[in-house]
Amino acid sequence: AVDINALADEYLKLSYHGLRAKDKTFNAKFEAITDPTVGSISIIPQDIGRVLLNLYNNAFYATQQRVKQGTPGYQPSVTVRTERVGDRVRIRVRDNGLGMPDTVRQKIFQPFFTTKPTGEGTGLGLSLSYDIITKGHNGTLTVDSQEGEGTEFTIELPNQPQS
Ligand code: ADP
Ligand code: MG
Repeated sequence: AVDINALADEYLKLSYHGLRAKDKTFNAKFEAITDPTVGSISIIPQDIGRVLLNLYNNAFYATQQRVKQGTPGYQPSVTVRTERVGDRVRIRVRDNGLGMPDTVRQKIFQPFFTTKPTGEGTGLGLSLSYDIITKGHNGTLTVDSQEGEGTEFTIELPNQPQS
């Protein structure tokens, strides 16, 4: 069994410091708000770590897009929240970045779909994440986004993976 709260927090730091190592001008606030009742659940940590890293990298990227737009007083921020919901565990990754229009949102789980310039994105992160969560862990991955305001991805996992 794996400590989801520790995983969510560690990968958030990994994402932030990884992005900063590549770009010294990169900066954002980040926070993990964890529910102690979540505890440990049966998951494949490398796979869930990969999903989290992708969601965090996307989230920070979206905030930097908004930094580039020069919104006055804008403070880039990414938050992960964990909570127990019955016998399930919910992990929400929220950013206050650029958000996305419906036309983009409808396609984000398709393999190779990206809005990033060549070399910056493969478009595989979310399709892989979707498979890891749904097929690999019998969970769900959903998204809610407001253009110009931000995005929230929600992972829900049962206590036991499918296989
Ligand atoms: P990539 O990051 O290589 O583009 P992903 O599968 O991770 O591929 O994401 C696909 C697309 O979904 C992104 O190019 C972007 O348009 C959109 N997207 C994903 N996460 C976010 C986010 N947090 N905010 C805004 N758009 C996002
Ligand atoms: Mg990505």
